[in-house]
Amino acid sequence: MEDCIFCKIIAGEIPSKTIYEDDIVKAFLDITQVTAGHTLVVPKKHVPDIFAYDEHLAADVFSRIPKIARAIKAANPEVKGLNLVNNNGAIAYQSVFHSHFHLIPRFSKDDDFSMTFTDNSENYDDAALQLIAKSIETHVED
Ligand code: 5GP
Ligand code: ZN
Repeated sequence: MEDCIFCKIIAGEIPSKTIYEDDIVKAFLDITQVTAGHTLVVPKKHVPDIFAYDEHLAADVFSRIPKIARAIKAANPEVKGLNLVNNNGAIAYQSVFHSHFHLIPRFSKDDDFSMTFTDNSENYDDAALQLIAKSIETHVED
């Protein structure tokens, strides 16, 4: 894809700090380093977002993630955990529209990554949850 920054990194046209590469993915340090070791795992095939994966690409890409996560953890004894983040769509903070997974090692509650999960459960009774679940369930397809 022309003008795709990650396709250019994959093609070697733009340098990156690569930590793993095979025929399916390239993993390299995110330029922003939200926390030290912040890594992007990027499929070599240009797919814009999670909605564009078929099950084979998903299996191929995800099968690489645990070993890369383990390497990030093993490389630094200060790593206490890791957030795996995949943004899809601008509303969900995606800024590069070549799908990728952020592996963000965590060091403390006060490091530079945070997420908010607001508990809205009081707004949903059992019937409302059932309706939402059914409406999604009916759309699950290959
Ligand atoms: P998104 O916001 O789409 O989930 O994440 C895109 C990420 O790509 C950002 O965290 C940003 O720092 C990273 N990024 C953008 N351009 C480059 C680049 O040229 N090199 C590297 N290594 N990372 C980049
Ligand atoms: Zn691309």
